[in-house]
Amino acid sequence: MPGRVLLVVDMLNDFIREDGALYSGPEAVKIVDKVAALVKEFVSRQEAVIFIMDAHAPDDLEFKRFPAHCIKDTPGAEVIAELVDCAAPGETVYKVYKNRYSGFFNTGLEQILNEIEPDEVHVTGVCTNICVLYTVEELCNRDYQVVVHRDGVASFDQEAHRWALQQMESVLGVDII
Ligand SMILES: [Zn+2]
Repeated sequence: MPGRVLLVVDMLNDFIREDGALYSGPEAVKIVDKVAALVKEFVSRQEAVIFIMDAHAPDDLEFKRFPAHCIKDTPGAEVIAELVDCAAPGETVYKVYKNRYSGFFNTGLEQILNEIEPDEVHVTGVCTNICVLYTVEELCNRDYQVVVHRDGVASFDQEAHRWALQQMESVLGVDII
């Protein structure tokens, strides 16, 4: 069924909560209402919402670059309550677990998108310059029409956030709205 899909990248307790293991800062907190509104909108229109979720083994390679975070099956790796509450589990809500920046690496995302065949993939979440950027790049490699919501993405690094938006727009051909 053609239509839109919403990707929600790493809106997890460890990134969004102030006491989370890898808190992304106040800019990340500011996008919660916007992302929640988008989740509600997509769910109400029976358009798919896909939560892309960091889920690491306790000794993951990534912890050489970042403090340990989002350990599989811990509360820190769960989607924040504000979003869980507006997307009750159902046909149109998916969870995709990843252990690298891209939502495609060693995950079922490609297959889910192949089945849905969306006209547009809308992207929200954190961090704009890391997991959002590397997932968007792979969406573009697969010729998806990508829309990134400016008020629905954030980073701990404002300069990198702006750079990534600009790259996505000018190099990857993404619509930034
Ligand atoms: Zn990670």
